[in-house]
Amino acid sequence: MIAEQIQKLSVELPQGTTLVAVSKTKPNSAIEEAYAAGHRDFGENKVQELCQKAETLPNDIRWHMIGHLQRNKVKYIAPFVHLIHGVDSERLLAEINKQGAKHHRVIDVLIQIHIAEESSKFGFSFGEAEALFSQENQYENVRIVGLMGMASFTENEQQVKREFEILSAFYSEWKAKKTLTILSMGMSNDYPLAITTGSNMVRIGSLIFGRRN
Ligand SMILES: *Cc1c(COP(=O)(O)O)cnc(C)c1O
Repeated sequence: MIAEQIQKLSVELPQGTTLVAVSKTKPNSAIEEAYAAGHRDFGENKVQELCQKAETLPNDIRWHMIGHLQRNKVKYIAPFVHLIHGVDSERLLAEINKQGAKHHRVIDVLIQIHIAEESSKFGFSFGEAEALFSQENQYENVRIVGLMGMASFTENEQQVKREFEILSAFYSEWKAKKTLTILSMGMSNDYPLAITTGSNMVRIGSLIFGRRN
């Protein structure tokens, strides 16, 4: 089932779109099934779970940290993480830079932008992101490679579409100036809309692995 879902999605997604298979709460066996089918990009939202899985699963897996990341936990994933999607403050950026230096790595990150109406979601406002992008880059061990956003949790497709479009427009505005290449938006429920509005990285969990408890 898992391999079939991944196969179906990779046919459906436009070329150049990265599928991050969100394996949070799922056992290693589920990841191994996707891995055997050739998939390498996996997303987790808890540091401890991410580290446990990374330790036991093949080391050519590209691990994406997609959830809210606390500064005091950056050190655990800094040695190996492929991409951190949810950078939502400058203090977190500074900490990732510090840990990157310790491990002699340049860590790729996405700036998370708050596009949803809910106040519960994390991220920079557009104004804050603009201020960050307008500064001279002061971080040698972190590379901002794109943006990430999560739309409102709603049935209202027009609203979700509007939120994706606003983020996509902001991405287009800064893409060339900051050499951004990744726009991470879209999950199981809203990825088709995300794709039509310009996403090139989708984070899909339940559609691949089944519902979470
Ligand atoms: C859980 C999660 C996803 C995947 O959600 P599904 O609805 O299962 O596809 C995507 N992005 C983030 C940030 C998540 O926490």
